[in-house]
Amino acid sequence: MVVVMKLSAREDEVAMVRQRLEQSGFQVHFIHGVKRLVMGAVGEGGETAGTLGLEALPGVEKVVPIMKPYKLVSLEARGEGSQVPVREAVFGGGKLAVIAGPCAVEGREQLLEAAVQVKKAGAGLLRGGAFKPRTSPYSFQGLQNEALRLLAEVSAETGLPTVTEVIDEASLDLALEYVDMVQIGARNMQNFSLLRLAGRASKPVILKRGLSATVEEWLMAAEYIVSEGNDQVVLCERGIRTFENATRNTLDLSAVPLVKSLSHLPVIVDPSHATGARRLVGPMARAAVAAGADGLLIEVHPDPARALSDGPQSLTPAEFSALMKEIRAVAAAVGRHA
Ligand code: PEP
Ligand code: MN
Repeated sequence: MVVVMKLSAREDEVAMVRQRLEQSGFQVHFIHGVKRLVMGAVGEGGETAGTLGLEALPGVEKVVPIMKPYKLVSLEARGEGSQVPVREAVFGGGKLAVIAGPCAVEGREQLLEAAVQVKKAGAGLLRGGAFKPRTSPYSFQGLQNEALRLLAEVSAETGLPTVTEVIDEASLDLALEYVDMVQIGARNMQNFSLLRLAGRASKPVILKRGLSATVEEWLMAAEYIVSEGNDQVVLCERGIRTFENATRNTLDLSAVPLVKSLSHLPVIVDPSHATGARRLVGPMARAAVAAGADGLLIEVHPDPARALSDGPQSLTPAEFSALMKEIRAVAAAVGRHA
């Protein structure tokens, strides 16, 4: 359940509600909305909202039971969409957050060139894989520590905040020292120990949808992160596995408005991994913005033909720049800006 406190609620009133909840076996999470304090009560408290008599306590505006299995990430927990700031970029709110950059960091020159170009085109964040979870153990696995150092260096030169994928505890700990935001990839969406660790981190997390995850499983994965105390979570739809093999995955765009009606978390779309094909990235990026996505994640490489991973889906800087112009027009048509 969530307990919505009155605007006028005093500290001692908040403390009393918290005590009542904790005595009944609930864990209490404070959710600071724009105006009000909301207390999320989760766990196996056993008692229903009604029997606790919370509504009669001073300072309490209302008690809302949450019937869904995910609680803290549910829209009811906040009543409005949340915002996740990453330095100057913000996920959620009126402006789209566009993450762009190469699939993998391959070297200083490649990353700097990509960063300068995507920034010029209007991207707000730079991506670059350091630890690549590849299908084959013989494929390029990423430059790892060296890639993290390069991301930090290029970020300092360009001013762009950075995002990289983490795959385990060691890569998470290391990435947190070098980048502004970490990503949990599709293959790790249900790596519950990694989700918990990311939930204890002090930096924002992108949680990609698993290859065959339902929307509910995806939201439950996000709940793992938020229940550990980190509410800075951005969901990323990146296509799911279906019988269709003409595209790399099947982009589930209906998940965007659906998830936004179920959860307060910002939702972005990755048309690059969703389609696997450069010529489909632009149309799906435009459609994602029209569908209400809070941002995009797009792979851009200075020389896609020579990319060490995901070249066929990577845009050239010129293609990305042209796409950003189209995205601005679509965003304006749906009351956003990019
Ligand atoms: C990526 O963003 O580099 C990536 C590997 O994506 P996904 O986890 O969606 O496959
Ligand atoms: Mn990739």
